[in-house]
Amino acid sequence: MAEIVRFAPSPTGNIHIGNARPALINWLVAMKTDGQFILRYDDTDQERSRREYADNIAEDLAWLGIKPDRVERQSERMGLYDTVADRLRQMGRLYACYETPDELDRKRKRLRARGLPPVYDRTGLNLTAEEIGAYEAEGRKPHWRFLLDQKTIRWEDGIRGEQSIECDSVSDPVLVREDGTYLYTLPSVIDDIDMGVTYVIRGDDHVTNTAVQIQLFELLSGKSPKFAHHNLIINASGEGLSKRLGSLSIRTMREEGYEPLAVAIFAVLNGTSDPVQPLADMEALAELFALDKVSRSASKFDMADLGHLNARILHETDFASVEDRLKAMGVAGGEPFWHAVRGNIERLPEVKAWWHVAHEGLPSDAVARDPEDADFYAKAIALLPQEPWDAMTWKTWTTALKTETGRKGKSLFMPLRVALTGYSHGPELAAFLPFIGYQRTLDRLS
Ligand code: GLU
Repeated sequence: MAEIVRFAPSPTGNIHIGNARPALINWLVAMKTDGQFILRYDDTDQERSRREYADNIAEDLAWLGIKPDRVERQSERMGLYDTVADRLRQMGRLYACYETPDELDRKRKRLRARGLPPVYDRTGLNLTAEEIGAYEAEGRKPHWRFLLDQKTIRWEDGIRGEQSIECDSVSDPVLVREDGTYLYTLPSVIDDIDMGVTYVIRGDDHVTNTAVQIQLFELLSGKSPKFAHHNLIINASGEGLSKRLGSLSIRTMREEGYEPLAVAIFAVLNGTSDPVQPLADMEALAELFALDKVSRSASKFDMADLGHLNARILHETDFASVEDRLKAMGVAGGEPFWHAVRGNIERLPEVKAWWHVAHEGLPSDAVARDPEDADFYAKAIALLPQEPWDAMTWKTWTTALKTETGRKGKSLFMPLRVALTGYSHGPELAAFLPFIGYQRTLDRLS
């Protein structure tokens, strides 16, 4: 069935790999089912939401390869929320409460001290007109809670299987703040109904919300969408990610030269039963991915694993896919240069360093030559073929040098590599040598 899904970030910061996960999973489900992907900014929190973050999110999603079919902002839909909130008040399901945060805190502490769950006692529901009058006279403004039906809510989760939550252990959630603004819970349901969302796929930090929201869905529309809750990504020390951790932001990964496909594959496959692996494109990822492959425990993010995947992808990337970016970096040399170096980079910008080695000079941290190789280098100069050079030049040269010096293997190749590139490892010299060229080779051997 064609699923209508949504990714609903709060634009309170730049998105990181943990936010990219639900975005991509929803995108893949839309792709697989010929459905629709809605990007909805949950920006009802006017204090923390910023237009700039929303724009960055759109840009980051585009970089990852996500093209929303529809974009919506909750801040532009407040009228609808007011209408529905009034309806809930008329139904007797939204009630005013006057406790201050301090008073609520004391209530919770008292309950905990008695070994009871800190569930709200519904004082607001039974206030008399006099009590309400007294609060209002004090200048207090009400916040509004949803009166939960204290029953068991069950759903078949697309990832976690059968789920059930006892709503008598859940506090009636606050839906409207004192200042009339909405918390996330209600607008999300209203929009999901209004936009025809058929499948809500999000992080498992929302499982309890789901019980509450299913009640709202049923009350407001008589039915509920499907739900799936994926595992969250944690960092190497086992902590959850936050938008303040700039280093794992999608923006930073882009700036550091990671491939969007590597980031996408990693964000999706890490924490599933499939190994993280290079794939040709997003279609291949959609083909491989299925919700029931997502594991239930948290998935650890290790930057080194991403680097490794990025390298594996680059090693197989054809020239046409990187041509423009290479040009923008000032790297010429066309396809032969790309093929010479792609096997030795983890991230694309590293090509610049090899371009520099080929055309400018040795790196500043060049490995020192062994003085005992002086005689060997003299022979290498003597046997260096004249230009024009091609892919066979290296072979011709080193074969002659082998015969002349009796050296072979590492003792033959390593002194040449060190002198010519400044490194003890790097691209195949057969392919790389022609880019260094006769004159620079001679200079570096001398
Ligand atoms: N704004 C919510 C979040 O970022 C959306 C959760 C949902 O998908 O319903 O966690």
